[in-house]
Amino acid sequence: MELFGFEKRTELTEATPSRSGQPLGRTGLIKTPHGDIATPAFVPVGTKATVKGVLPEAIKEIGAQAVLANAYHLFLQPGADIVDEAGGLGSFMNWSRATYTDSGGFQVLSLGSGFKKVLSEEFSGSTKADTHVAKKERLAFVDDDGVTFRSHLSGKKHRFTPEVSMRIQHQLGADIIFAFDELTTLMNSREYQVESLERTRKWAMRCLAEHKKLTEERKVKPYQQLFGVIQGAQYEDLRRKAARDLGSMEVDGQSFDGFGIGGALEKENLGKIVGWVCEELPDNKARHLLGISEPDDFFAAIEAGADTFDCVNPSRTARNAAIYSPDGRFNVIRAQFRRDFRPLVPGCTCYTCTHYTRAYMHHAFKAKEMIASTLATIHNEHFTVTLVDDIRKSINEGYYLEFKEQTLRRFKEANWGKK
Ligand SMILES: [Zn+2]
Repeated sequence: MELFGFEKRTELTEATPSRSGQPLGRTGLIKTPHGDIATPAFVPVGTKATVKGVLPEAIKEIGAQAVLANAYHLFLQPGADIVDEAGGLGSFMNWSRATYTDSGGFQVLSLGSGFKKVLSEEFSGSTKADTHVAKKERLAFVDDDGVTFRSHLSGKKHRFTPEVSMRIQHQLGADIIFAFDELTTLMNSREYQVESLERTRKWAMRCLAEHKKLTEERKVKPYQQLFGVIQGAQYEDLRRKAARDLGSMEVDGQSFDGFGIGGALEKENLGKIVGWVCEELPDNKARHLLGISEPDDFFAAIEAGADTFDCVNPSRTARNAAIYSPDGRFNVIRAQFRRDFRPLVPGCTCYTCTHYTRAYMHHAFKAKEMIASTLATIHNEHFTVTLVDDIRKSINEGYYLEFKEQTLRRFKEANWGKK
């Protein structure tokens, strides 16, 4: 699809070149029917068709170019058919810019099977017993054809297959959708990873075939880009194989429009794993990394060739009074902020920081006022979107390495209380 494809702009020439000698880090443009996304870009998560507690106007104002909603949640409630009748996700949630949905695979497997913690940053310290609950408590079961699971809301039994996920995501109508894949954890054996990867490869082919069919059936709808998801855990050979398989995959002339890099990633291996995958993937297609929001992770992933990111953490932690700042993260509910009449984060240009003090935010959280979550979310999403925007600017204008060094040094010193 030339019209809605990915256009590479600038290369990150200063960073360490990849094995092939070509730099992996880059800027670019993803073209969608609801506007272009300049990359690298951070995409806020609106799981149930809302970034919790914040009006779409505010999300626009912070500069978000897209939001990502979740197929699993919207399938359970209100139902993908209702979103379809509303004119698709963007119309339904009053968001005019680009939209993403994930395939539901992650939620089906992570909520369904009761994995407590699967993501990299939350991973360290968990034990095998934390990760795998007893079989009788499990709510999801994988077979070669799909996943059978019980709703975490009603307990009702459902089944997701690649075809079901594609149909749901076509009804939801997001600009960028993801292939249905199996989530594994770092606790699974290599043998299981191999078996799972082969299942995900076959599911990817079925997703392409169904996507092509649905695109033809629904010709009046705007074109949706389908991203394949690269799994393979921490194994270099498996990651590279998955990237080569999906990168060159074609079913009836339909190939993937971009790629997601999925699965459990340990923080210390993040750049390495993204690099293996991006070296194998075609250069002219976008790469989305699921689930990161830490400043050092953005730099590592962007250098390794990732283009877009989503993560629920900026809004989730905001609701717990955790505030992101260039000098590290702090919790505004702490007593020392009771009489602190400085802006929440001095120098930040977001609505919250230009209108409210730390003392007010401290009070609003203590009093359990709804506005506390709203204002903190606006700030954290603004901080994260702006950080990635600033990285993009630094690549385009040739000062990436200096920007990275300064940003990370300041963040690590974590002297937020004094500034
Ligand atoms: Zn702010």
